[in-house]
Amino acid sequence: MLPRMIPSFNPNDSECGMKLLEDLTTNAYEVQQQVLEEILSKNAQTEYLKGFLNGHHDKIDFKKKVPVVNYEDVKPYIERIANGEPSEIISAQKITELLTSSGTSGGQPKMMPSTVEDLDRKTFFYNLLVPVMNKYVDGLDQGKGMYLLFIKPEISTPSGMVARPVLTSYYKSSNFRNRPFNRFNIYTSPDATILCSDSKQSMYCQLLCGLVQRDEVLRVGAVFASAFLRAIKFLEDHWEELCSNIGSGLVSDWITDSSCRNAVSLVLSKPNPDLADLIRHEFSNKSLEGIVKRLWPRTKYIEVIVTGSMAQYIPTLEFYSGGLPLISTMYASSECYFGINFNPLSKPHDVAYTLLPNMAYFEFLPVEKRHEEVASREGVSGQECPKADEEETLETVDLMDVKLGHYYELVVTTFTGLYRYRVGDILMVTGFHNKAPQFRFMHRRNVVLSIDTDKTNEEDLLNAVTQAKLLLEPLGFLLIEYTSYADTSSIPGHYVLFWELKTKENNDMIELETSIMEQCCSTVEQSLDSVYRRCRRKDNSIGPLEIRIVKQGTFDALMDFSVSQGSSVNQYKTPRCIQSEEAIRILDSRVVGRFFSKSTPLWEPFRMETK
Ligand code: AMP
Repeated sequence: MLPRMIPSFNPNDSECGMKLLEDLTTNAYEVQQQVLEEILSKNAQTEYLKGFLNGHHDKIDFKKKVPVVNYEDVKPYIERIANGEPSEIISAQKITELLTSSGTSGGQPKMMPSTVEDLDRKTFFYNLLVPVMNKYVDGLDQGKGMYLLFIKPEISTPSGMVARPVLTSYYKSSNFRNRPFNRFNIYTSPDATILCSDSKQSMYCQLLCGLVQRDEVLRVGAVFASAFLRAIKFLEDHWEELCSNIGSGLVSDWITDSSCRNAVSLVLSKPNPDLADLIRHEFSNKSLEGIVKRLWPRTKYIEVIVTGSMAQYIPTLEFYSGGLPLISTMYASSECYFGINFNPLSKPHDVAYTLLPNMAYFEFLPVEKRHEEVASREGVSGQECPKADEEETLETVDLMDVKLGHYYELVVTTFTGLYRYRVGDILMVTGFHNKAPQFRFMHRRNVVLSIDTDKTNEEDLLNAVTQAKLLLEPLGFLLIEYTSYADTSSIPGHYVLFWELKTKENNDMIELETSIMEQCCSTVEQSLDSVYRRCRRKDNSIGPLEIRIVKQGTFDALMDFSVSQGSSVNQYKTPRCIQSEEAIRILDSRVVGRFFSKSTPLWEPFRMETK
């Protein structure tokens, strides 16, 4: 029998959960057809679909007549809804809020429509993670999870609709706050500490509660690896104060958020000098190697996403973890939630996600593998292109028709008003679970730099560099080449740009003024998009941007290196982002000056203009 679109089940009933997953993956084709039928029949009268299908809801016509689109194509509709027009222009179900994505358009977060029903779909998805973890790790019901979860700022659109990140929406929803008390959602962080809008107080209180309950903690984590490492750094900077609070049983005065304070006081309840001494002892050890295992000795794994751009944090996490498995459980986005890792204990580089066929209707744009291979050989970020010319109709394949080892860009049709929407993620098929394909997340289309949730593409980088180099031109310097990489050797990581300059008169390089170069760094930062600036200013999840000036001829050496690795001389273009360690070494060995941004870029929640 086909599962209902959002089947209800008790997450504590592992057998039932696993059976559901088996049914969904065995009937992947039928479920996908059912999803498309439901979406089309419900939304045939929306202005958007009517424009292509004339009120009909034929599945074959859908593929022929409704175009594969990018955000720019749907942005006008979303803005109209944000400005107060009825949801029916794109969705029969009421759009209740907009989810601000970490992808940006025109420097501002993209906004994805969401509905009340969609919260139930997400809850169903989270519940399915429970039986999967249970299958591989015993005894998780004997303790708690220390998950460091945070909310981010939200805005109100001109029509009064709220726009906020998807996780902020979920944590604030009654689905999360009134989650049934079951053995798998007992967290050390009281909800008040997760829902605290001051990120520093939130972090401090969540770590304090996690330390106080250390004996009960069986798993630790955060959504992304970058956030977990930020917590470790915070611990390193605040352990003395945390120990003093634990020793005295009193929360520091600067925790002024009253709900947070009350919730933490209940957890802290009494002085615990022995625990304070024990933690002090762990930190007085010179190295923080294995600190997670030492502080939370019963913990069985670290749950953080370490796929995609987060893979850069694996070595650092391994250093702190003390050999604990790193587990990436899910793949999701503001557009919709996609898939689950059915083998959570697999090594980070082998992680594959199985797309759940009832989450959305999935299509796949084949991507030239050749580009991927060149990209990985040269250690630069892949700039793939779909097989069809961008101007032609883009031919997609269905979930059932993807081929092992092939690369695809994900396209979704959601229950919330997105039709044949290009997500921008490049995936590779690694296998099948029953009839459902499993995908490795390769990377995001065009993104060259990412430290946290920021996603900087080549064009953003070029624009920012163009702004900054204007400061040097009046001084007689020309920027002749640049490239970049995300330096995550310290926490938080930061962007590094390599610049090769020459003087207009071709003189020997005269000394660069530090203050001008620092201004260049700040100008680049100020010119990057609002997600970068929020991470940098509000979340402190990105460190000051650095420009490294390299000797003349350095980029020739980089080209020689690429050619020696198999690149064609004729087609060689300077990669705007470098990943290969050898290439970074070549550049680093020729650095003659290093400069850092001295100011944090301006950021404020964006405002939507009423049209
Ligand atoms: P956002 O729209 O801000 O929620 O970001 C969603 C994007 O984050 C996805 O489209 C992916 O590019 C990335 N992402 C989400 N989950 C994963 C994952 N498990 N592995 C790698 N990248 C991910």
